[in-house]
Amino acid sequence: MFNSIRTTRWRNKIFNAHVAFFVSAVLTWPIMAEMELFEEFYEFSRAHEDWDLDELALLVVNLTVALILSSIYRARVLRKVMRERAQEYQRAERNARHDPLTGLMNRRAFAASMQEIEADPNSAGRYMAMIDLDRFKPINDVQGHAAGDALLQGVAERLEAMLTPSDTIARLGGDEFAVIFDPKRNSATVERIARRLLHAMEKPFEFQGTALYISCSVGLAHWVGGTCHSDALSQADRALYTAKKDGRARFAWYDAELDTQSTERAQIEAELREAITTGQIEPWFQPIVDIEKQYITGFEVLARWHHPERGTISPAVFIEIAEDSGQISALGNSLLRRACTAANDWDARLSMSFNVSPLQFHDRSLVDDIKTILQETAFDPTRLTIEVTERSVIRDFSSAREKLDALKAIGISVALDDFGTGYSSLASLRQLPFDRIKIDRGFVTDIGGQPQNQKIVTGIMSLARGLELDVTAEGIESQQDLAFIKSLNCGLGQGFLFDKAVSASDVSWLLETKWSDLKVDDPDSTATQPPDSKAG
Ligand code: C2E
Ligand code: CA
Ligand code: CA
Repeated sequence: MFNSIRTTRWRNKIFNAHVAFFVSAVLTWPIMAEMELFEEFYEFSRAHEDWDLDELALLVVNLTVALILSSIYRARVLRKVMRERAQEYQRAERNARHDPLTGLMNRRAFAASMQEIEADPNSAGRYMAMIDLDRFKPINDVQGHAAGDALLQGVAERLEAMLTPSDTIARLGGDEFAVIFDPKRNSATVERIARRLLHAMEKPFEFQGTALYISCSVGLAHWVGGTCHSDALSQADRALYTAKKDGRARFAWYDAELDTQSTERAQIEAELREAITTGQIEPWFQPIVDIEKQYITGFEVLARWHHPERGTISPAVFIEIAEDSGQISALGNSLLRRACTAANDWDARLSMSFNVSPLQFHDRSLVDDIKTILQETAFDPTRLTIEVTERSVIRDFSSAREKLDALKAIGISVALDDFGTGYSSLASLRQLPFDRIKIDRGFVTDIGGQPQNQKIVTGIMSLARGLELDVTAEGIESQQDLAFIKSLNCGLGQGFLFDKAVSASDVSWLLETKWSDLKVDDPDSTATQPPDSKAG
C-alpha cells in the first residue's frame, strides 16, 4: 500500500517534469523567435565557427523533439494507469457496498442508508418490507449451491424488475432481502407490490434445464419518522415472522398490539418457572353439585396465578405458556400435590377432579408421577377424577387407552372434559374407558333461550345414558339453566350459580356454612334448597 503510494508519487514527479519541459519548450520557441534570438545565434555561431555551435544546436533541437515525443507517450501511459486505478477504486467501493452474487446493496450499505434516512429531519416515514424465501435450504442441500446461487440471482432480478431505482433493495444475507420503498408510495401500493412479488415467485426459476420452485414470505412495516432504524427493521422482521407462522407464501403487516402481547407472553414465560417453584400458582376449588339432591359431591381443581403486579392471570393464558415452554408437568405435579394435601382436610366423601392438559397427558411419566403424589400425600385414589379433553386423546387412541387404563387400575376415575366442542367426541367415547363426560359450558349457559343447544344437550344425555356414563353439566349460571338441566335428569352440575372457584382456606368455610348439609350417604333426606341468586 505504502509502496504503491510512493511509486505513484514518483510517477507524478516525472510526469510533472515532462509537462514542465514541454510547456517551457512550447513557450520558449515563439519568445525566442519574437526576440530574433535565432538570427543572433546564427551571427554568433558564424563568428565562432571553430566552436561547432551549429552541431550543438542541432543536438539541442533533436533532444527537445525527443523529449516532447517521450512526454506525449508518457502522458498517455500515465493517463491509462490513472484511469485503471480509478476503475479499480470504484470496483472496490462497489464491492464494499454491494452483494457480489446479486449485485444488490448489502447489509452494511442498507444499514447506512437507513441511518441516513433516520438522520434526515424531513423524513416523514417510509414503508419497509422484509422478504425471506420459504424452504430455501432444501434447494441448496438437494440441488447444490450453484442452483441456490442461481435462484438467489433470479429472485434479485424479479425484485428489481418490480421496483424502481428510488426504492432501496438489499440482500441482507442468505435468502433474506429487504426493501425501503420510495417515500411517495402508500400502504395500498406497498401491499399491491407485496402481492405481485408473491405471485412472481410462483413462476419457476430455470437452472441448467431444471425448473426450481420457491415461494417467499413478506413482512411489511410502516417506519414512522422518529423511530430508530433498528427498531423499524425489527418490526418488519416480526411481521415476517407472523407471515411465516401463518403458513408462509404470504405477507403480513407489523401489528403493534400483537407485539405487545408476545412481549408480555415472553415475560410471563420467564416468570412462570419461579411462580411454580415458589407456589405463586395455587389450586383453587369449584364445587361440583348433585343436581337432584342439591348437595356438594366434590370440587374441581382450577389453577390460579395471583401475580404480584399483573393481578390474577387466567389459566387459559398460563397453561398454554406452560405447555409451550415445557413446564406443564412441573406445574401440574405441584398443583396436584397441594390439592391432595388440601383435600385431606375435607370430609372423606368429597371427591376431587383434576385437569390434565394434552401435553401433560402425553408425558411418559404422568401415571408414575400421579402414583407418587398420591402415595406421598396419602390421598385416596378413588376420590380422584382426572379430566382430559379430546385434544389429549385424539392423536393416538391406543396409547391414550393404555394411559387411561393405567390410571383406572390405580382406582382413579377419568372424565372427558369440554364434551361437544371437539369433532369426534363420539369416537373418543366409543374407544376409551371414560367414567364421565362433562358437557361444555358453551351448551349449558343460557340454554333456556337456545333451542339448538337444548337439542344437543338432550342428545348428549340420551347418548350418555345408553353408554352408562355419568354426566356433569358445566356453566350453570342461572335458575333457568339449572331447571332445564334438571329436567334432563343430568346427575352433576357445576357453575357460578352454585359457586365460583375458591381458595383452599375458603373451602372449609364453604363446607361449614353454605354446604354444611352433606347428605352423600343419606339419599332420602330433604335436599338443601338450591341457591336462588348467582354466587359472587
Ligand atoms: P375447564 O376445565 O373447562 O374449567 C372450567 C372453567 O369454567 C373454569 O375456568 C371455571 O372457572 C369456569 N366456569 C365454571 N363455572 C362457570 C360458569 O358458570 N360460567 C362461566 N362462564 N365459567 C364457569 P378457568 O378456571 O378460567 O379455567 C379455564 C381452563 O383452564 C379450564 O377449563 C381448564 O381447561 C384449564 N385449567 C384450569 N386449571 C387447570 C389446571 O390445574 N391444570 C390444567 N392442565 N388445566 C387447567
Ligand atoms: Ca375441567
Ligand atoms: Ca370443561
